[in-house]
Amino acid sequence: MSTYREASKYPNFQGAAFLSIMAGIGRLIECLWQYRRRYLLGGLCLAGTTSLLMMVPWWVRAAIEVIERGDPESELGGYVLLTALAAAGGGLLRGISRSIIFNAGRNIEYDLRNDLFAHLEKLPLSYYQSQRTGDLMSRAVNDINAVRMLLGPGFLNLVNTPLYFGYAAVFMFAMNVQLTLAVAACLTLLIWVFGQFRGRIQRASLRVQRQMSRMSAHVQENLSGMHVVKAYVQAEPQTARFAGLNDEYRVRSMDLARCRGMINPLMVALHGLTVLVVLWYGGWLILRQQTGVADLVAFFLYLNVLAWPMAAFGWMISLIERGRAAMERLEEIFEVEPSIADPERPAPLTDRERGIEFENVSFAYNGDGEAALRDISFVVPPGRKVAIVGRTGSGKSTLTHLIPRLYDVTSGAVRVGGVDIRSLSLEELRGAIGYAPQDPFLFSTSIQENLRFGDAGATEQEVRRVLGAADLESEVEVFPDGLDTRVGERGIALSGGQKQRATLARAILADPEFLILDDCLSSVDSQTEQRILHGFESVLKDKTCIIISHRMAVIREADEILVLEEGRIVERGNHESLLQAGGVYAQMYRRQQMSDELDEL
Ligand code: ATP
Ligand code: MG
Repeated sequence: MSTYREASKYPNFQGAAFLSIMAGIGRLIECLWQYRRRYLLGGLCLAGTTSLLMMVPWWVRAAIEVIERGDPESELGGYVLLTALAAAGGGLLRGISRSIIFNAGRNIEYDLRNDLFAHLEKLPLSYYQSQRTGDLMSRAVNDINAVRMLLGPGFLNLVNTPLYFGYAAVFMFAMNVQLTLAVAACLTLLIWVFGQFRGRIQRASLRVQRQMSRMSAHVQENLSGMHVVKAYVQAEPQTARFAGLNDEYRVRSMDLARCRGMINPLMVALHGLTVLVVLWYGGWLILRQQTGVADLVAFFLYLNVLAWPMAAFGWMISLIERGRAAMERLEEIFEVEPSIADPERPAPLTDRERGIEFENVSFAYNGDGEAALRDISFVVPPGRKVAIVGRTGSGKSTLTHLIPRLYDVTSGAVRVGGVDIRSLSLEELRGAIGYAPQDPFLFSTSIQENLRFGDAGATEQEVRRVLGAADLESEVEVFPDGLDTRVGERGIALSGGQKQRATLARAILADPEFLILDDCLSSVDSQTEQRILHGFESVLKDKTCIIISHRMAVIREADEILVLEEGRIVERGNHESLLQAGGVYAQMYRRQQMSDELDEL
């Protein structure tokens, strides 16, 4: 994690506290403050460049006066030399200042990206339910770029422009007050125009950025759900939807371009107007001998220097507004508190003799919405296996999500090793749990690396052993690169059953204390599932396990079986006692037996 946020620790920096009220701006200032030395140095170099370049018209004016007075040639030569040196020195310093400031902008971009990613990794699953991945990606890429532009070229122009105008004002006043006032009157118009366009550009920028997010989200969803798009012949409607979004993006971008485009000619016209005023009023003053030709030439040269900052005004405003809007959008993410975080003083996980314990646990996905789990209490003693069965949607997966704190309970408590899991460090808790989810997920890397996600230090032999136990080794052998075969995005190159077995192997490779298997072999046939679980018998022997399955053959071997219905435990006991009780479980068992018998016919 980078340290730029630690900037607020600097006690002598009073400004940040006030400005942080203004969300994104506060963070921007903090970024600048973190790199304050570089920005200061860059700013000084910029000031040096501007000072040198602004001396040029002054010395040209002096040279003209030498010519007018008919002074010796050597004096003229001196001014020519000075002018040449100032131009060369100014050019050199300009290069240095640009590289210092642009590099600082790139460093902040780097820090911001790292911080954003680290922050995203800490946010709870519930946050991602309300967000679109494409939108988050657009912020991480486009908005951070916009912030870099603001802190690089934006900062440079923000410092440079007032310097140019300030210097010009001082030199012009020194030459002729009336003519300077005339120029100032023209420039007041410029400030008015600037004010008119700022708000419009800000709104237009934000609209463009939002639309870009929508488009990214659409693209991301389509790419990751490409097989569904194709299977449902949705390519055309989806393309049409994208075209609609893209069209809106074009309209909004053109609106922004129009705003910016209007500023440029206006600024050029204003510059032209100023030149006309100087020519007319300056000429008039010369005719009345209140100023000299040298002054008039110097005025023109100063106006010439100001031409670029004036023309770049539109670009600069849009850089600033885009950067600010981007920072606000990033701040919306940074502001989200990681609600599931380490406690201040985590308790150690030492007494592991108590397995997993649920005490009056209730849970709802949306705070006060409908409960997915109600008043769940049970204990999995160490080394024992508890199986959970129930109809689809009865809350089995939800129950398992609570153990590694993917979500926090709404009421009640979950204990692992006798400690409330909210008192444990997330790393220790999650490190002790092996979790094979119902919906297997693999990263787009090799099989071997995917398995090592569970235990980075595992030897190849260990990887092969768990693959063998998961009945996957022989299948991996025939893959083109064996263990190093890449599995494609989300493991797309593997079959459903292969993916499930790989995720099971990943959970077991980590050799965790507690194992949660959430219907993780549903895609393989019944016999294979049993064979695999028997293959793992020696590994599973001492583990505390929660097993969810739809297969009675797997369930019946558990020490205790919990039957869930609409988030409640409606029956519990071992296989025999539940059969004898003749309730929901017995019905489910009989139904499955009948369907197995029918299959065999
Ligand atoms: P299955 O056998 O189909 O896997 P399950 O017993 O595992 O079902 P859960 O996934 O735990 O069922 O879902 C329990 C209830 O919670 C369902 O009504 C479901 O709609 C709801 N639910 C699940 N996940 C979420 C979520 N992320 N946000 C809101 N509600 C959810
Ligand atoms: Mg489930």
